[in-house]
Amino acid sequence: MAIIEVSNLKKSFGDLDVLKNVSFEVNKGEVIAIIGPSGSGKSTMLRSLVHLEEVNDGTIRIQDEFLVQSGVYPSNKKLKQITARMGMVFQHFNLFPHLTVAKNLELAPKYVKGESEELVRQKSAELLKKVGLADKADVHPGKLSGGQKQRVAIARALMMNPDILLFDEPTSALDPELTGEVLQVIKQIAEENMTMLIVTHEMGFARDVADRVIFMDNGEVIESGTPEQIFNRPKVERTRAFLNRVLH
Ligand code: ADP
Ligand code: MG
Repeated sequence: MAIIEVSNLKKSFGDLDVLKNVSFEVNKGEVIAIIGPSGSGKSTMLRSLVHLEEVNDGTIRIQDEFLVQSGVYPSNKKLKQITARMGMVFQHFNLFPHLTVAKNLELAPKYVKGESEELVRQKSAELLKKVGLADKADVHPGKLSGGQKQRVAIARALMMNPDILLFDEPTSALDPELTGEVLQVIKQIAEENMTMLIVTHEMGFARDVADRVIFMDNGEVIESGTPEQIFNRPKVERTRAFLNRVLH
């Protein structure tokens, strides 16, 4: 059974149909790159998966639970249980500026999950080491580069032990020389069998780490396939035209 099943998702903002019958499945451990032009609905789709947006119709199943079923949402308690299995990393990091790096990591596990001070300390130290920032535990985010901030945001998402990680253009706000260090960390997590959906404009990275690439345009999934198929032999003219634009 797929770990994520999305079917016939529809979302509009006023008159604007942003998601038109979006359907796809993700298997456990799969790394999916989502590509497509700006405004095609990629962020809205990702945000719908973690209930930052409510869809108008369609179904999202996460593991064995329905986040929304034919447009109907369950209780808030149920929604929290389901979304707690997912971590999200945003383009603009969203760190708390007044807290140290370690406290940024420890806040949610401590206050949302009730984990002990000792446990969250140990986990934050471990995860900061994993993203190469063991020496930054006690500094404030303002002292960090964009690449370092994004690595902190990734460590913070991992603190909640998610089964699924979602990334919305994790390197788009970074200076080009800082994207590599962030992509390297994401790649390392991908290699540990995490299920991941990554919205990205980094086509080389998508080709390198994704098991499957989904191309979205104008609120629809136009085509999905292996990186090899999508990048070398796209079936749909719109995919070909988009890749021509971004690769040349
Ligand atoms: P992408 O991430 O692919 O660039 P988005 O999902 O952010 O696309 O946006 C898809 C469309 O929905 C865009 O036309 C955008 O302007 C519109 N949109 C997104 N969020 C809102 C909102 N909260 N209110 C109105 N329109 C929105
Ligand atoms: Mg977006």
